[in-house]
This record gives sequence, C-alpha cells and structure tokens, in this order.
Amino acid sequence: METIIPLPAMPAVPVHGSLALFPVRRIYCVGRNYADHAREMGGDPNREPPFFFGKPNDAVVPGGGAIPYPTLTSNLHYEVELVVALSKGGRDISSSEAKDCIFGYAVGIDLTRRDLQATAKEKGQPWDTAKGFDQSAPISPITPVSPGGHPAAGAIWLSVNGVEKQRGDLAQMTWQVPEVIAHISSFVALAPGDLIFTGTPSGVGPIVRGDRIRCGIDGLGELEIVVI
Ligand code: MN
Repeated sequence: METIIPLPAMPAVPVHGSLALFPVRRIYCVGRNYADHAREMGGDPNREPPFFFGKPNDAVVPGGGAIPYPTLTSNLHYEVELVVALSKGGRDISSSEAKDCIFGYAVGIDLTRRDLQATAKEKGQPWDTAKGFDQSAPISPITPVSPGGHPAAGAIWLSVNGVEKQRGDLAQMTWQVPEVIAHISSFVALAPGDLIFTGTPSGVGPIVRGDRIRCGIDGLGELEIVVI
C-alpha cells in the first residue's frame, strides 16, 4: 500500500520465552480497582465503582529502562499494575468467557501527572494529559498464560530507590480480570493486541529525577525504570 506518510511503527512488547513480539493495539486502564487506593484518592469504594480510561498504544515502554521526567508536571506518580494482554476480543464478552481472550500477563506502571489529574477532576476535564502522555506506560515482557492457569492472587509491589512503597495482592481487586474484560467489552469491542492496566493498590507517590523504581508481581517477573 502506498501511504502519504510512512506507516507509523506498531508498538510491540517482548514475550517471555519467545523471540516473538506482542503488537499493541489499544491500552485500557481501570481506575480505583483496589479499595485502599480508592480511599487514599479521596473516594468511597462502597459508593463509586471502578471505571475506565485510556492511553495511546505508543505510550508503552517495553522493558522499562530510562524514562525522561515528563514536561508540565511537578508531581509525577508511580502506580504498579497487573497488565492483561488479549489474543482474542469481541463485544459483550461474559465473565465466564473472558479468560479465553487472554494471551498473557505483565507488570506495568501507570505513570500519572497527579497535579494535572487533580486539576482535571476539579474542572471536570478529561484525563488525557494526566495519564496518556509519551512513555507513560512502561511494561515488562508478557508472560503467556501457563497451563497452571491465571493469576487471581499473589503479591504486587513497588519500591523506589530500594524502599518499598506499594504492596498489595491481586485478590484485592474490586473487579477481577474477567469482570474487567466483561465491563470494557460492554462499551467497546475488544480485539487481539489490546492491553488492560487493571488498577493499583495503595501507596502511590511522587517520583523525582534520578529515582530508580522497581516493581513486580508474583510469577510475572519484575520491571525497573529510572527517571532521568
Ligand atoms: Mn492506574
């Protein structure tokens, strides 16, 4: 096909134990999916259910590494999250069918300009500049679903310069992964290549230049970034 400009590169994430790459079509994110994080953000998890927002697919930073401190913020935050990678999609996927759509799982960080998010909330404006900026979605290699099954429980943690800041358990998610897939697919058609960031436990906080951030999830390995 002749195109008027060069075709943009398809962002892609390495797969553990394979030379193949997982191409990224869309990135969905779940907000307030852990009750303790909903509370620390000033919400009431009993009254406000989780919700969705997005990041552009080229916000992924495969394997982490050095990430420049973004412009126009003085309060960049980390949020460690379980990321789901889909190999199948569809509309109105039921919770019971949802697991059949999952290719694998990864560890991701939903980098957030917390100050711009606070302003957006106050003014009822969208979150795009707070959440969907360049290099805002570092992600580990994807671990394909093992015959042992899907992770429904297990530690999720993050440290800054060797000091632990976040520690939770996947079992604490308000919406478990199959419900997240069911909910999103009731709004939009999901498709192969979609990533879903499933929310963060409590303990979110600021990053300054030079910080080394490590995070991990039981069974899915670790991810490290350095903010420069
Ligand atoms: Mn998040």
